[in-house]
Amino acid sequence: MSREQQAVARARKAFETGRSKCVEYRIYQLKNLQQLFTEKQKQIADAVKKDLNKSEVGTQLYETLGLEGEIDLAIRKLKEWAAPRPVEKNLLTLSDTVYIQPEPLGVVLIIGAWNYPWAVTIQPLIGAIAAGNAAVVKPSEVCVHTAKLMEEVLPLYIDKELYPVVTGGVPETQELLRQRFDHIFYTGNSMVGKLIMAAAAKHLTPVTLELGGKSPCYIDKNCDISIACRRVAWGKYTNCGQTCIAPDYILCEPDLQDRVINEIKKSIQEFYTDNPKTCPDYGRIINQRHFKRIMTMLEDSHTAVGGDNDESDCYIAPTVLRDVKPEAKVMQEEIFGPLLPILPVSGLDEAIKFINKGEKPLALYVFTADDKVIKRIRDETSSGGLLANDCLVHYSVSALPFGGVGNSGMGCYHGKFTFDQLSHKRGCLIKKLNMEGVNSMRYPPHTLKKLGWARFFILNTVDLGWMGRMALLALLAVVTAVVLQNYLF
Ligand code: NAD
Repeated sequence: MSREQQAVARARKAFETGRSKCVEYRIYQLKNLQQLFTEKQKQIADAVKKDLNKSEVGTQLYETLGLEGEIDLAIRKLKEWAAPRPVEKNLLTLSDTVYIQPEPLGVVLIIGAWNYPWAVTIQPLIGAIAAGNAAVVKPSEVCVHTAKLMEEVLPLYIDKELYPVVTGGVPETQELLRQRFDHIFYTGNSMVGKLIMAAAAKHLTPVTLELGGKSPCYIDKNCDISIACRRVAWGKYTNCGQTCIAPDYILCEPDLQDRVINEIKKSIQEFYTDNPKTCPDYGRIINQRHFKRIMTMLEDSHTAVGGDNDESDCYIAPTVLRDVKPEAKVMQEEIFGPLLPILPVSGLDEAIKFINKGEKPLALYVFTADDKVIKRIRDETSSGGLLANDCLVHYSVSALPFGGVGNSGMGCYHGKFTFDQLSHKRGCLIKKLNMEGVNSMRYPPHTLKKLGWARFFILNTVDLGWMGRMALLALLAVVTAVVLQNYLF
């Protein structure tokens, strides 16, 4: 048995003991996870520093703060989320108990990406634990130090049989994918997303795919350009552009371009000084392969700001590209680096057309003071999420579903959405053995008269308070008795 097979078998066996289903046990595990983030903050920051050159404060701000919030929310809300959810009834089921009972799916495989290695790996785990599943956690091998630390510390805090960590690269992940899971939660690029889905199809395993793509940013002439550019610069250059929802490119009218360039340049200086290379808040490209990939994108476009680079240090300065053509290399794939192309367009109509020609993005940004522009963008395009007059922050709202659509992914998570994503919503109808007379309308011999009553009972839904329900029930009993006596027999 391979290491991967053993981990899955162990998780399955632990799940079968039933302990992960107990709500108190789930809360206990979540509290332990909470403790991990209190006690291991320093080690986490050190590992992320080595992997991505993120500062300690940056790691807390962009990685662990959100996780702490999500754990806290799950602990506070779990009993409510896990409780039966009563549903609207029709007249026929009025006296029955009808509800949705969320239940664990079983063993979930979580495959994380490297760009926010804690956030994208642990956030699905929080939902998996909350929903009562076992989970095999596979952090990205690209973040060597983080993966090692995760493998070391997770078993110290949470049930190591239920939630094993498996480290490794492509062969190990593929070995995991040959195993049978009850759900696969993958974060990464779309190409691998297709491999994940193909592997999952063999076992009819459902998947959540948190992918990426080119997230557009339209800057309208009717807005405070200085504030807009400050927010765009923050969204773009955080983590050196290696953010799935980073604004990938800007669309604006040609006569705005120079102002946009100028304002972004000012923000770069404000955030990262005149020499971002020595600024502790400016990151590095994850590895030389990605460095080379990003540098190739610069070849056929004009650099307006930045462009400096150092391969030995995986450093690429915050860069702005001007008058970029749709055919340019930088527009052919998700940039995932600190290059910000500006594509001049004649106005909102052309921007919408351009956006709709591409794949559906993970995020769509619009900067404008005009609500009509926001409304048109919302109504005439599609994307995983929509954010007006800011970047990235929709990710931090646990009450919003986070996820892609089309090429940017399927399924969603954060807050209760993660719980729901990793639960089976079991429809339950609990009847009593009395009131058999009401069922006569469905038993043969079928007649038009019975059909008429069936239409009446089934097509009328009921959404009344407790008193109303009791009154209606009494009325129904009388109607049923009359119907039975006079019409059905
Ligand atoms: P990556 O290289 O870390 O790969 C992700 C995971 O897939 C890793 O765990 C890796 O082991 C596994 N993997 C890679 N190749 C594989 C293969 N051939 N077979 C099986 N498994 C394989 O990360 P990445 O893909 O470079 O991540 C960047 C992408 O992720 C970007 O497109 C970004 O937009 C996207 N992303 C999306 C989100 C989101 O929440 N939607 C978050 C972060 C990143």
